[in-house]
Formats: sequence, C-alpha cells, structure tokens
Amino acid sequence: MKCPDCGTAELKQDTRDVPFSYKGKTTVVPRLTGQFCDACGNSVLTKADQDRYAAEATRFRQVVDKLPVR
Ligand SMILES: [Zn+2]
Repeated sequence: MKCPDCGTAELKQDTRDVPFSYKGKTTVVPRLTGQFCDACGNSVLTKADQDRYAAEATRFRQVVDKLPVR
C-alpha cells in the first residue's frame, strides 16, 4: 500500500516508538504497531495501538498543561 499522505513510498509493517509533541514538549509512545512511511513519517496504526497513542497523547497534554507557565 502506498502512503496515503505523500503517495511516494510504500508503507512498511513495523513496530516503532512514535514521538508525540505538544506545546514544545515531546514524549515517546513505545512499541506502536502499524504501517509506516519512511518518506514523510506518516503512520497508519492498528486500531488498538491507535487508541493507545490517543490515550497517551491525552495524558501527556494534561501533564504539560499542569506545568507552570514561564
Ligand atoms: Zn508518506
């Protein structure tokens, strides 16, 4: 399957640590399984790992929002 985002590269089945950034802070969600594009970094995760990524993103946003404003 070609990447739906850039259309130039084949997606590769893989398990990777996927970074998530929010307000300049970055966390990494470990071991997400899905199809990854090496050209643009797009990923199509399995449903379970998509949910895990979303949950981790929500949790991380809450942590960042509780940080004192500088
Ligand atoms: Zn792509």
